[in-house]
This record gives sequence, structure tokens and C-alpha cells, in this order.
Amino acid sequence: MSATPLKGKPVAARLRAEVAERVAALGDRPVGLATLLVGDDEASQVYVGGKHKAAVATGLVSLDERLPADASQADVIAAVERLNADDSVDGMIVQLPLPNGLDGEAAVEAIDPRKDADGLHPHSLGRLVLGQPGPVPATPQGIMEMLSFYDIETSGKTAVVVGRSFLVGKPMALLLGAKGVDATATVAHSRTPELAALCRTADILVAAIGRPEMIAAEFVKPGAAVIDVGINRTEDGLVGDVAYDEVAEVAAAVSPVPGGVGPLTIACLLRNTVMLAEMSAR
Ligand code: NDP
Repeated sequence: MSATPLKGKPVAARLRAEVAERVAALGDRPVGLATLLVGDDEASQVYVGGKHKAAVATGLVSLDERLPADASQADVIAAVERLNADDSVDGMIVQLPLPNGLDGEAAVEAIDPRKDADGLHPHSLGRLVLGQPGPVPATPQGIMEMLSFYDIETSGKTAVVVGRSFLVGKPMALLLGAKGVDATATVAHSRTPELAALCRTADILVAAIGRPEMIAAEFVKPGAAVIDVGINRTEDGLVGDVAYDEVAEVAAAVSPVPGGVGPLTIACLLRNTVMLAEMSAR
């Protein structure tokens, strides 16, 4: 069996078209996304650059705030507060991780929840737990769009999410287990015993680990859908958390890296931003 590749591009294209329509529907009112980048980490610069390019291409106004690598925690909080007070900013993100021991969680908590484009503020995460509308973390939101686009049934299915970060793993499990989605989701992590056996129970397996090609064929139930969130830079280039070739022999569908989940994260960030603009325009 050779699995269907769950490519992100067509899903992202549909999401971006939706965002562009919603931006246009707001008429003369511009929709602003601000990014705050601290330091000069190469990967972070690439991510921020991609967000700006996509924002402009979908009709948003993009604001690129930067601080030097030697910025203090107070400098970071002051920059967030400036953006909170800026009426041209509907949504903002602090590009994580922050350098030099700066506290990323404290920076995210300083964001006005009404401008929380990444959906990572405790207020947004609390609303997600309660099943209330609001910005949802972009990567797991994108994965839900991917499952829907490729008609992958969730209701009554068993899901295992490997990774318990607040960025991906935990919100992913909440979304899969939400009313109307109705999967039964388990979150696994580095202390989970018999991980391969647990993963083999999953109809939907999400790998958000950060370990190159850790999910081998023995982790996968025949016919499962496998979503690879991992982005690992190795000597052989960019690889995911899933050993694609061998897993594709067992699974029904696997998302590739690159070209799978990655493009969806940015599209969902833009969707969160236009939603925040719509809410403030009311
Ligand atoms: P974190 O490092 O915050 O979390 C990793 C999780 O994996 C932790 O919960 C950790 O467990 C678990 N883990 C680590 N090693 C093992 C192991 N051997 N067995 C089982 N579980 C393990 O990472 P993130 O959630 O932020 O990101 C995960 C990956 O996804 C990274 O590669 C990241 O680059 C990528 N990513 C991709 C995005 C995209 O747009 N495609 C967006 C965001 C992230 P424990 O808690 O016990 O330490």
C-alpha cells in the first residue's frame, strides 16, 4: 500500500482565498498583522519573512517590529505594549522562541487577548478549553483543516498526539476531542511507556515531537492517517518526525515534510487575524 500524501498547498490556497475574501468584505478598513522578532536567529527570520509575504499577498497590512538580540525582557514587554496600543494592529505575534533566556510565555501574556493572532494567550487557550469561539493556535487549527480537506473521518476515531506543548500537542488534542469532531484523543510525551504500542491504536496519529523520523512503521496502525508536524534541520536537509517512506507503506495517508502542515500554519495565522479584525469592527 502506498499512502496518499496529505499535501498542505491546496488546503492553504483554499484558506488564503477565504482570508482574502473576508479582508475584502471589510472594505476600506485595513487589517493589520504585526510580528515581533527579537534577535537574528536564521530560522525565525525565515518564518517571519514568510508570514509577511503571505499577509501582503492576502491583502493584509504587515508591520515588522524587530528588537536586537541583546534586548531585555522589559524591552520586549514595552514593544508588545506599543503594539497593543496601536490602532492599526488587529493581530500580533511574538516569534518564539525568544533568545538569551528571555521569557516567551511572559511576552505572550502581555499581548492584549483581543490581538492574540497566534491564539497562545492564556485567555485564548482558556476559551479553547471551554469550547468558546476565539483565535485557535495556528498549527493545530491547520491540521483540522487538513483532515477536513482530505475527508478524514474523526468522529468515533482514536487519535494519539505525540507531544504536549501548548503550541501544538495540547491544543491539538483539545480540537480532536471537541464536540462535533468527536475523536477520542490521548496525549503522549517523552515519559509515555510503550509509545509504539499506544501509537498503533491510533486511527489518526499526530507527531509533534522534534525528533527526526522517530515515528517508524512499527508505530503505525495499518490504514491510519499520520500527520507530521516536526521540522528538523539535519545534514540531509529538512526532515519531519515521521519516517515517511516506511510509514507510507502502512498508513492510508501521511503528510510530507516539507509541504505538509507548514503552509497551513501561516494561512491559519492570517485567518485568526482577520477574525480579530471582524470582531473589533463590530
Ligand atoms: P516542544 O519541544 O515544545 O515539544 C516536544 C514534545 O515532544 C514534548 O512534549 C516532549 O515530551 C515530546 N517528546 C520529545 N521526545 C520524545 C520522545 N522520545 N518520545 C515521546 N515524546 C517525546 O516542541 P513543539 O511542540 O513546539 O514542536 C514540535 C515539532 O513541531 C518541532 O519539530 C517543531 O519545529 C515543529 N513545529 C512545526 C510547526 C509547523 O508549522 N509545521 C509549528 C510548530 C512546531 P516532554 O513534554 O516529556 O518533554
